[in-house]
Parts: sequence; structure tokens; C-alpha cells
Amino acid sequence: MEEDMVELRDVSRSHRAAGGTVTALDSVTLGFGRGTFTAVTGPSGSGKSTLLHCAAGLERPTSGSVTIGGTDITGLRESRLTRLRRDRVGFVFQAYNLLPALTAEQNVALPLRLAGRRPAPGRIRAALDEVGMAGRARHRPAELSGGQQQRVALARAIVTRPDVLFADEPTGALDARTAAEVLSLLRDLADRGQTVVMVTHDPVAAAHAARTIVLADGRVTTDQHRSPAGVPT
Ligand code: ADP
Repeated sequence: MEEDMVELRDVSRSHRAAGGTVTALDSVTLGFGRGTFTAVTGPSGSGKSTLLHCAAGLERPTSGSVTIGGTDITGLRESRLTRLRRDRVGFVFQAYNLLPALTAEQNVALPLRLAGRRPAPGRIRAALDEVGMAGRARHRPAELSGGQQQRVALARAIVTRPDVLFADEPTGALDARTAAEVLSLLRDLADRGQTVVMVTHDPVAAAHAARTIVLADGRVTTDQHRSPAGVPT
């Protein structure tokens, strides 16, 4: 069987707080396969952000291990971890975080420039094309709708061809129709081989993913796969 692009093995994360220890994530074991689209959902405080941060190498687990693209990141030094994140992990957030002074294509080129690579124009255009924004390459964020800005943010996240794309409430700021467009785009990306893991508290958004993981009190309570027709399996 093919190795998962992201694997969490027995991952726990706790915080020391005034009243004792808070367990944000409690012995979670999960794998995310290549080209899959997974929604992680659950009530506020259930551990969704902690799961995303641990899986993305933004936060270190208290115990357990995390593997991205076959590399165990748990013991990596900060400098190597930063490089691995830059090269192999893409992020999109609720706020698009585009630089307002830059055009869409300049924003998309940014991760490559930060990595010290000269961005090939064809590559930038291809990323914009993948999200249906090739016609807006010269526009600045203020000249784009919220949905269009999120598409540009998606192009920026995939331009490095990351092993995994993490989306944290990517539709939180969008109206229902625009949100549905962005979610079907995420599904298209997964269908083309991109591994996508999305955190959302919105069940409607989660329903666009082929797999839904529900957290409660830092534990996985449901892990459900849906067939393409949308029927739970
Ligand atoms: P969610 O994203 O589902 O809202 P979080 O992962 O943010 O949940 O938080 C899970 C639990 O861990 C919550 O009880 C939260 O208060 C606690 N927590 C998260 N980060 C910290 C921290 N830095 N210090 C103390 N407690 C934290």
C-alpha cells in the first residue's frame, strides 16, 4: 500500500495552564493519503487547530510522531523544519493574507522568491490557471472579490507543489455561493493528486470533503469516508 503523505502516530499535545494540564490533542493516530480531501471538524476547543499545527510542523507534539512525505519531522531542528514546511507544505487561511501592493502573479511568485528560486512565468501562470484566475494575473487584491482573492491565495499555496495543502477555515469569510466554489476547487485539486486537509467548524463546508474527521476533547470520535455520490460508506 502507498505510504500516506501525512501521518500522525499517537500524537498528544498538552499545555500547562493555571489549573493544571490542558490536553489539546490526546493520542491521535491518522494518515492522509495522496490526492485525498479530508475535513477536520468539531466544536470550538476540540483540538482542530492543534491537530493542524502539529501535522504541519508549526507546533511540536508533546509525544508521538508526525511524518510528511516520508520524513519524520518530529525530531527536526527548527531550521530544517522551516525549510521542509516551505518546500512541502502549503497553507491557506480564512484571511487571504495577500500582499496588497503586489499583483496576483507577484503574490503567487512570492513563495518561490522566498526560497531563493527565480519563478518561471509559466509556472506562475499554471498555478493561476489551476484556480481559474489566469485572466486576473495583473490585478491587485483590492481589485478582486473575496472568492477571487482566496483563489489567488490557493494558487500561492500550490505553486511549490507541496506534499500537502492545509486549509484553516478557508471559507470562513465567504458567502455561501463563493464558499461552494472554493470548496469544489479544493476537491478538484485533490482529484488531480493534491493532498488537502481542511479544518472547519462548518458542517456544510465539511460535506464537500470525501472524508470527515470529527474531534471532541482532543480525540477522534468519527472518521467517515464518503463515496463520490455523497453517500456515507
Ligand atoms: P479548536 O481549534 O478546535 O478550537 P484548539 O486546538 O485551539 O481547538 O484547542 C484545544 C484545547 O487546547 C482548548 O481547550 C484550548 O483552550 C487548549 N489550548 C490550545 N492552545 C493552548 C495554549 N497555548 N495554552 C493553553 N491551552 C491551549
